[in-house]
Amino acid sequence: MSAFQKKSVLVLGGSRGIGAAIVRRFASEGAAVAFSYAGSPEAAEQLASETGSTAILTDSANRDAVIELVRESGPLDVLVVNAGIAVFGDALEQDPDAIDRLFRINIHAPYHAAVEAARQMPEGGRIIVIGSVNGDRMPNPGMASYALSKSALQGLARGLARDFGPRGITVNVVQPGPIDTDANPADGPMKELLHGFMAIKRHGRPEEVAGMVAWLAGPEASFATGAMHTIDGAFGA
Ligand code: NDP
Repeated sequence: MSAFQKKSVLVLGGSRGIGAAIVRRFASEGAAVAFSYAGSPEAAEQLASETGSTAILTDSANRDAVIELVRESGPLDVLVVNAGIAVFGDALEQDPDAIDRLFRINIHAPYHAAVEAARQMPEGGRIIVIGSVNGDRMPNPGMASYALSKSALQGLARGLARDFGPRGITVNVVQPGPIDTDANPADGPMKELLHGFMAIKRHGRPEEVAGMVAWLAGPEASFATGAMHTIDGAFGA
């Protein structure tokens, strides 16, 4: 029997890409999965009916809505914070409101969701945040706000692992390299540049990231906490 039978799993940002692969993985192993979405209601409804999961409209830019969703979800065995955005371009030209929205989605929501989840989480609970190898290495211009936000998650994991470790709750960051999603298509304009940094010269698959998330959420990972788990084809090596 799967370790996730009847476990309660919430994925923030699960309608597409890596988040959808994570929803599929937990649902296929018998978990009771709910996920949030913001801009893709059709994809969310389709995924929910395909997997038997529950789709909930909650914008991760809205701190209070995120906290309310986590609280109303009841005791979670696993919280995965996947929702994240990037704002590309010349730092001198960027709209500060767009940058602050990125920080709300990529930094504030993970922090507040993790803290709120821990209030009700049982012993052995798992908090997993999707960061990026760009938290370690940012080899091109135009993405400083994104890199900053993913580096911030490293502090989140290190600090909250200390806060919740005594209760047997682990807090980890998964740091993907280029993964084939709408946000970073394998045949997109960045392909040659990105693959040039890598030892395995292809985009990763969302399912490969979901596999690492499943391991961190399972019983074998009970001693892994406060750590960054990079899965990037050696992009950052
Ligand atoms: P996609 O853009 O393909 O999907 C993003 C997902 O997050 C969608 O389900 C989207 O839902 C949800 N989301 C975005 N903004 C919000 C919001 N404000 N509120 C709620 N949900 C939201 O991205 P990826 O799958 O590529 O990326 C997922 C995570 O992985 C992100 O944190 C990203 O930074 C990280 N990552 C991705 C890499 C890649 O190469 N793809 C590499 C490294 C890290 P909806 O459409 O319904 O709004």
